Amino acid sequence: MACIQAIASVTQYWVLVWQRLEGKVALITGGASGIGEATVRLFIKQGAKVCIADIQDELGEQILKSLGSGTHARFIHCDVSKEDDISKAVDFTVETFGTIDIMVNNAGIIGNMFAGIKEADLQELKKVFEINVDGVFLGMKHAARVMIPRGKGSIISTASLAGIVGGQGPIGYTGSKHAVVGLTKSMASELGKHGIRVNCLSPAAVPSGLFLPLFPAWLRKAAVLKISFAVIGYYANLKGVHLEANDVAEAMLFLASDEARSVSGLNLTVDGGQTVVNNPLRLILSIMRW
Ligand code: NAD
Repeated sequence: MACIQAIASVTQYWVLVWQRLEGKVALITGGASGIGEATVRLFIKQGAKVCIADIQDELGEQILKSLGSGTHARFIHCDVSKEDDISKAVDFTVETFGTIDIMVNNAGIIGNMFAGIKEADLQELKKVFEINVDGVFLGMKHAARVMIPRGKGSIISTASLAGIVGGQGPIGYTGSKHAVVGLTKSMASELGKHGIRVNCLSPAAVPSGLFLPLFPAWLRKAAVLKISFAVIGYYANLKGVHLEANDVAEAMLFLASDEARSVSGLNLTVDGGQTVVNNPLRLILSIMRW
């Protein structure tokens, strides 16, 4: 009995101290806010050394401060649409922490949410593509430069539900997120022979920096906002789950960790089943069954 208890407590201790990203180095773009920030915090908690690359310097520095002085985290100003910036961020991470095991291409913008094709502006579409597509491409390219000689690595990009179905976002954003899925498949096919896994994530709506500015300031913290997201959540198949940035970070953690060692080329939806159901039909059927 005493022996079983001893084994149980050792196992419990091991589970408590086990960190899924122990010894790994991650570079996370768009890490100063929302999903990126949640991913930075979770990766640090799980033992990774993390470099945050973002254009919001003040927010990035605030995150470093809040993580505490002993934490292995750094910030670098980086506009993902500029090759020189991405290249420098990759080099900075390698100089600071020795290598890059995990590249998270997460920075993104949504563009004008309310413009239809008649109002859509080519310059704005180009801006969205520069950040959402060029930024992901450049992140993949420069991460691969470090990962190929090492014969390992994990590249994760944040796509979107809008990269799977239409009507979930503006035209440019939808096109850009479909491109992220395409880049992921192409890179997974090319980099597999180097032992590098390439995946992306497609979250449904998360109350973060991407969406909150679309609401008037007085609504952002009010119950109405929660209700709005609850309604969006209702369109998912999964009852009672309202997606938050942390849920996406947990999915990032899985793709980054060795537990996903055989997963590559995947577009992992984090949407409570939203993309696999026909909502109007589901509602009609559930009323008929009731
Ligand atoms: P967010 O606005 O909170 O975070 C985006 C971050 O990207 C910000 O810190 C911003 O400063 C940074 N960024 C913007 N342009 C940049 C650039 N040129 N270079 C470097 N950094 C830049 O939004 P979020 O919701 O956390 O979005 C993160 C990712 O998740 C985006 O790619 C977004 O498209 C995707 N996504 C978000 C949702 C959602 O509902 N919030 C849903 C699906 C996908």
